[in-house]
Amino acid sequence: MILPANPGAGYRALKPEIDAAIARALDSGWYILGQEVRSFEQEFAAWLGTARSVGCGNGTDAIVLALRALGIGPGCAVATVSHTAVATVAAIEMAGAVPVLIDIDPRHYTLCPVDLAAVLKAPPPGLPPIKAVLPVHLYGQPVDLDAIGALCRQYNLLLIEDCAQAHGARWHGQMVGTFGAAATFSFYPTKNLGALGDGGAVAMADEALADRAAALRQYGWRTHYISDDAGMNSRLDELQAAILRVKLRHLDAANDRRRAIAAAYDAALVGSALAPPARRPGADPVFHLYVTRSRDRAAHQAALRAGGIGTGIHYPQPVHLQPAYRDRIALGPARCRETEIASSEVLSLPLYPEMTDAEVGQVCAALRQL
Ligand SMILES: *Cc1c(COP(=O)(O)O)cnc(C)c1O
Repeated sequence: MILPANPGAGYRALKPEIDAAIARALDSGWYILGQEVRSFEQEFAAWLGTARSVGCGNGTDAIVLALRALGIGPGCAVATVSHTAVATVAAIEMAGAVPVLIDIDPRHYTLCPVDLAAVLKAPPPGLPPIKAVLPVHLYGQPVDLDAIGALCRQYNLLLIEDCAQAHGARWHGQMVGTFGAAATFSFYPTKNLGALGDGGAVAMADEALADRAAALRQYGWRTHYISDDAGMNSRLDELQAAILRVKLRHLDAANDRRRAIAAAYDAALVGSALAPPARRPGADPVFHLYVTRSRDRAAHQAALRAGGIGTGIHYPQPVHLQPAYRDRIALGPARCRETEIASSEVLSLPLYPEMTDAEVGQVCAALRQL
């Protein structure tokens, strides 16, 4: 069976380097917020092309830390999408703010600037003032940063990019994660840059804000044992940082391999019943996922499974329809209609950098028979 994602293959491909990094971290005798985390933070910020990155426990906490460092919390609303990992919406509530969920553009599955403009012009009654926009570069596809950036400037809103699926994607040649006041990353094992456990980071160009995020991740300490802010505990640990330093050196090559596999799938899907992902002009995606669209998803999924090909659904239920959120979350005027249609039709094909050419060929052959 070809798995939809395969973090074990990612470890095996780099085993000698990763094992050496783990041994170094263990031998150091220092396991929390030490040299490995400091070095990773510098290397990741330099790779991204920003001033600072602050490592933390996971991608959800990265969003909480970014919001809190920017002063977004109780009394603020934050606009994001319902078509995302639930973490995006959960983090807004964890920070004490109120989410308002915007529909997606159905071709690219990312935040629809038209619905965002409409909600900014006429916010739902009872919603606190919208202070920030948190678009998600979903599946590794950059959002329309021109349109969303223009709305943020017009309404004086903070832009925070959720880059959990988009390490290395570019918009008009510039790295996503460098457009707003902050960007957040997850290093969950299957992400483009994946640890072998949990991890996350906030990236910021502003040193003072990064210092604030760094303090908040550890009880609000700037000096040990003295809390300036009421913080939390969400640290990246030394072992994961050591592993991430190895993985970071191979990230650009891994993203190139993802793009090559995506191009092979594009070719195999010409004339097929499965629609390939659309490419937004100006965007250079990194294919965290390769998401097709099907009107007959269950049958296509079963046919692929019979051919030894595992698939995924990202995501089967929009956040606003899930039990924890249903009937209590504000929506934009489009009422997330495209989101609901997409969630019933999207189908993710296997995609990870260590797939062999033979495996890619097997998937392509199966696609041609659909
Ligand atoms: C994975 C993910 C997150 C959360 O990351 P965790 O490390 O699992 O907390 C947030 N947003 C998006 C879009 C994600 O894909």
